[in-house]
Amino acid sequence: MRTAEIREKFLSFFEGKGHLRLPSFSLIPENDPSLLFTSAGMAPLKPYFLGAKPIFGGREWRRVTTCQECLRVGDIENVGRTSRHNTYFEMLGNFSFGDYFKKEAILWAWEFLTEHLKLDPGRLWVTVYEDDDEAYGIWRDLVGVPEEKIGRFGEDENYWPGGAITHGPNGPSGPCSEIFYDRGPAFGTPDETGPNTGSGDRFVEIWNLVFTQYDRQGPIPGPGILKPLPQKNIDTGMGLYRVAAILQDVEDFYRTDTFYPIIERVALYSGKPYEGKASVSHRVIADHIRAVVAALSDGVTFSNTGRGYVIRRLLRRALRHGYLLGLQEPFLHRLAPVVAEVLGDFYPEMRENLEAVERQIKLEEERFLETLEGGLKRLDALLSGLKPGEVLPGGEAFRLYDTYGFPLDLTVEIAAERGFGVDTEGFRKALEEQQERSRAAMAFERDIFKKGAQVLEELYAERGATEFLGYAALEAEAEVL
Ligand code: ATP
Ligand code: MG
Ligand code: MG
Ligand code: MG
Repeated sequence: MRTAEIREKFLSFFEGKGHLRLPSFSLIPENDPSLLFTSAGMAPLKPYFLGAKPIFGGREWRRVTTCQECLRVGDIENVGRTSRHNTYFEMLGNFSFGDYFKKEAILWAWEFLTEHLKLDPGRLWVTVYEDDDEAYGIWRDLVGVPEEKIGRFGEDENYWPGGAITHGPNGPSGPCSEIFYDRGPAFGTPDETGPNTGSGDRFVEIWNLVFTQYDRQGPIPGPGILKPLPQKNIDTGMGLYRVAAILQDVEDFYRTDTFYPIIERVALYSGKPYEGKASVSHRVIADHIRAVVAALSDGVTFSNTGRGYVIRRLLRRALRHGYLLGLQEPFLHRLAPVVAEVLGDFYPEMRENLEAVERQIKLEEERFLETLEGGLKRLDALLSGLKPGEVLPGGEAFRLYDTYGFPLDLTVEIAAERGFGVDTEGFRKALEEQQERSRAAMAFERDIFKKGAQVLEELYAERGATEFLGYAALEAEAEVL
């Protein structure tokens, strides 16, 4: 089943259950300064969980379904190494704003997976929050899942957001119930007793059903207060690519229909075939270029701060992986049309903005390639000089950042490949010192400007404003200051 078909099946299934289908919201959160990027289907819908009236198209809708594009910066390090994490991915979701609750959410999820996607019920496992007897009862008694396949876990696994009670963030939250698919012993993990955290690639977490009934408040971190929301909500999230990999019966999602065309291009350009797990570089490139194209299409631009810096880091990391494959010329921009091809039907902005996106990527590639080789040589020399157990000094990591444009995580990644750590604290200090210096320099400039303007005013007052003395006078005065 093609990825687009799964997406469509999901959305129309929930339309059939009275949900309004909304298009994906932008990756750039609107009116939510707490978020760098939209990282879950529920993120743009937060106000409705908190009680805002869900009016869409002039009508109130208490049931909504979406396929939301997401970007999880926190998963960068997992990309390429696990077979289930992307930075950019799509999350299918059904939402209830004070309408249906646990029973319907669970029964419909089961119905969709087993009857519409035809997943073998024998391979499905579920988990619930440790004291959620209600959800446990629904799974056991109404769905008929055997007890040995229902796990109970704590707030890190089965509360959403994970660990929110003790660590925050504040906002809508609640116990959750997750559905896992057992891919079988061929994907074997040492732990075959069922799903839990870090259970590797065998038990794939496909769907999280969140029972959003609290507003978490209080200090972060700290013992939060769980204030019951005026209404009980449902927020679910299913990983489209994880399900696609299962239904297309491929080893990992990189071999599914929306990834493989990109992987193939990388293989073609580099002359290096894709070999699954071993091909970390192919994977990183395929993942990161999707994130970069999606973010640029939504209006992010490369920069040294915030969102722009996140995509700069992604691009630079992808370029360095290209370098590892022998690609020393700009090549990422040539992958952008492939991304638009596989995702553009659902995200038309990728097609509409393609030309501008390609141009931006190419410029950015050219810039970084000018310093990449020099930086790699310098880093190589530094690492070769380290003894086992030593770490790369923070000042050196900072120089790589400042002179060669190496984002810290790139330096950390390369050092780790050689078995070394990096003094990231030292890096931060060096960065702060530099920012302090540039702040001081800016303040100095402002000062000069102020004094200069004052001088100019005095000159005007003295000689009358008829004759513009211009900047020469100003500069002459400034020199003295
Ligand atoms: P995991 O434990 O695998 O990191 P999660 O518990 O962090 O996943 P949720 O926040 O529960 O994920 O998100 C809902 C669903 O979205 C998950 O069940 C999964 O199918 C999918 N998902 C989450 N993170 C990713 C990711 N980085 N790449 C692809 N799919 C993801
Ligand atoms: Mg996660
Ligand atoms: Mg999880
Ligand atoms: Mg989860």
